[in-house]
Amino acid sequence: MDALIDAHNRRINYLRISITDRCNLRCQYCMPKEGVSQFGHAEVLRYEEILRIAKVAVARGITKVRITGGEPLVRKDVVQLVSQISRLEGIEDLSMTTNGALLAEFAPALSRAGLKRVNISMDSLLPEKYRQITRGGELSRVWAGMEAARAAGMAPIKINVVAIAGFNDTEIVNFARLTIPDPIQVRFIEFMPIGFFSEWRPQQFLPSDEIKRRIESHRPLVPASIHKNGHDGPARLFKFPGAAGEIGFISPISDHFCQSCNRLRLTPDGKLKTCLFSDEEVDLKNLLRSSCRDEELEKELCDAISSKPLRYGYTGSGIKRCHRPMVKIGG
Ligand code: SAM
Repeated sequence: MDALIDAHNRRINYLRISITDRCNLRCQYCMPKEGVSQFGHAEVLRYEEILRIAKVAVARGITKVRITGGEPLVRKDVVQLVSQISRLEGIEDLSMTTNGALLAEFAPALSRAGLKRVNISMDSLLPEKYRQITRGGELSRVWAGMEAARAAGMAPIKINVVAIAGFNDTEIVNFARLTIPDPIQVRFIEFMPIGFFSEWRPQQFLPSDEIKRRIESHRPLVPASIHKNGHDGPARLFKFPGAAGEIGFISPISDHFCQSCNRLRLTPDGKLKTCLFSDEEVDLKNLLRSSCRDEELEKELCDAISSKPLRYGYTGSGIKRCHRPMVKIGG
């Protein structure tokens, strides 16, 4: 079977599956205090529907799958879904993005079910500030989740930090220092204007180069050599000399990686998105619920891939933002 290659010669092998738009946190930059209106039960893909899409996609050349949300660990029976996806022939990498609040409870079962690794979102190292940013989150639970993931054998553990000026930028060096004794990967992600709820303002934006400069004013960084070209997915990787872990920079805004984008996203309500910043979506749920054959699903997938845009649009006033909020896409 031919690999999935789009019209711009990019090999598409990565599917991010958001299994819910519900979340147990209310991060200030992601959603309003009252949350966002949630999909009704019937709107959300059932596990057998998700599995069917995953199966067709993996058979067609997707090798890497990430489970995300909302918060994936709030959906009932998530371990069962992980177990089913991990057994699909052709899957090489199965991971999850989580806020970590429930990870201590789930890590052993997730690992047994075949989850290889987790990315944990943590935007402050200060318990009170973390509580504020997440509107109620307990930082100690995230640390406990991380330890549980490690004890369960998941590796590498990656910590995602969305760097926002005036919000958590004073903690950049402290986050970077975590990698000195600990073999973790701390990744700084540029704040993106996603969704109409997001209060993204240009003055809050911190480009990766500035984050890196601030870290280097503390200690020099050297490229991390263990990954090909210093890249791990879209992250550019560095480390402090002699450190156990690594520091990554993900720069969707200042150095967008559209040219090498290999991803597709499946939203909780069954829409396939080929570009995070675009409002274009392909409705797979309707197709599935009209008793389609696998061949039709595969065709829809391939058609979507051939129309994957080369890059998202810049408008005169900056970056074009998609309307769907991150919590309903799956970050
Ligand atoms: N609940 C899970 C979590 O917290 O990791 C998964 C979903 S969350 C939407 C996924 C990631 O998207 C988190 O790391 C979050 O910080 C990030 N995110 C949300 N809004 C963002 C934005 N506007 N720019 C950059 N990252 C964002």
